[in-house]
Amino acid sequence: MPIITRTADSVESEDWRQVLSESFRRPADLLNWLGLPAAGLPGGSDDQPDFPMLVPRPYARRMEARPDDPLLLQVLPLTEEKREQPGFITDPLAEDSANTTPGIIHKYHGRVLLLAASGCAVNCRYCFRRHFPYADNRLSRAQWQQALDYVRRDNSISEIILSGGDPLMLQDADLQQLIDHCQAIPHVRRLRIHTRLPVVIPQRLTPALTAMLAATRLQVSMVLHINHPRELSDDHRRPLKSLAAAGITLLNQSVLLAQINNNISVLSELSERLFEFGILPYYLHLLDRVKGAHHFDVPESEAIALHQELQTLLPGYLVPKLAREVAGLPNKAMIHLDRD
Ligand SMILES: *Cc1c(COP(=O)(O)O)cnc(C)c1O
Ligand code: SF4
Repeated sequence: MPIITRTADSVESEDWRQVLSESFRRPADLLNWLGLPAAGLPGGSDDQPDFPMLVPRPYARRMEARPDDPLLLQVLPLTEEKREQPGFITDPLAEDSANTTPGIIHKYHGRVLLLAASGCAVNCRYCFRRHFPYADNRLSRAQWQQALDYVRRDNSISEIILSGGDPLMLQDADLQQLIDHCQAIPHVRRLRIHTRLPVVIPQRLTPALTAMLAATRLQVSMVLHINHPRELSDDHRRPLKSLAAAGITLLNQSVLLAQINNNISVLSELSERLFEFGILPYYLHLLDRVKGAHHFDVPESEAIALHQELQTLLPGYLVPKLAREVAGLPNKAMIHLDRD
């Protein structure tokens, strides 16, 4: 392991927006801070105007100073992303067609995605939303009302899933207002928040946020997006414990990623560590075939073999469902071994 010296960080702010504003935005700065020579990386590139690098410092701090670090590889733009690969397209989930009301994606029975915020606190290179027309989904107040009207009119909708972008990018006051609107709709029973923000900035899980989520009549779950055991740190323990104590169900969804977590010991350690932090593994997703992310793809046969092995190692409740998003299906497709 190389010996690294990092410049001392100033004491980290408790204000998550401040922490976010201090994120690394240039690959050279991040590599330099890690003590890695840019030349040692296969195409560590500055030039990604459409989907620029964004890496908060608490996340960078959990990286190890090596070019194949699984946290670094999730966020560092590589020139490899620019290579065209057949089958990897800009809208692999055909969400454009399920996105008829701005801010709403209604593909599955009983639940809708509400695109609550357009940005994220980290730009993950494998993200299927890297080409999503966020700008068109930055909602005006009138459009917010339209999106909520959509939910009001359809009483089959019992769950609102705040997604994005990352819904925790909203300021607390805006989030509170949104929750108030949601809980005022009688047929809505559950609120789910899909977020990666607290993974990269644990300071986002403030006592005020926990109190807000504890106070709604809705049953709240939070689905964290954690791909590697080292993404959870001691800074996560206390706030996650508070959320759990407040009755918030904590779940995790991971994406199976080449070079990051397509490895049985990483996957089993991830499940163990999630549980240690009070989080249950929910989904292990196959990569959506989005343009620019082909180098993260894990073949389905390998995914099935890993999943099978995971089942032999862990109790059932620590084995996530292996799933893939298939355009046009009424739910995510569960991936199984064909036994016949
Ligand atoms: C994943 C997803 C959901 C939620 O599906 P669950 O199986 O309930 O987790 C809802 N809508 C869309 C568009 C999704 O991609
Ligand atoms: S946080 Fe989620 S939505 Fe945002 S870039 Fe990462 S994977 Fe995509």
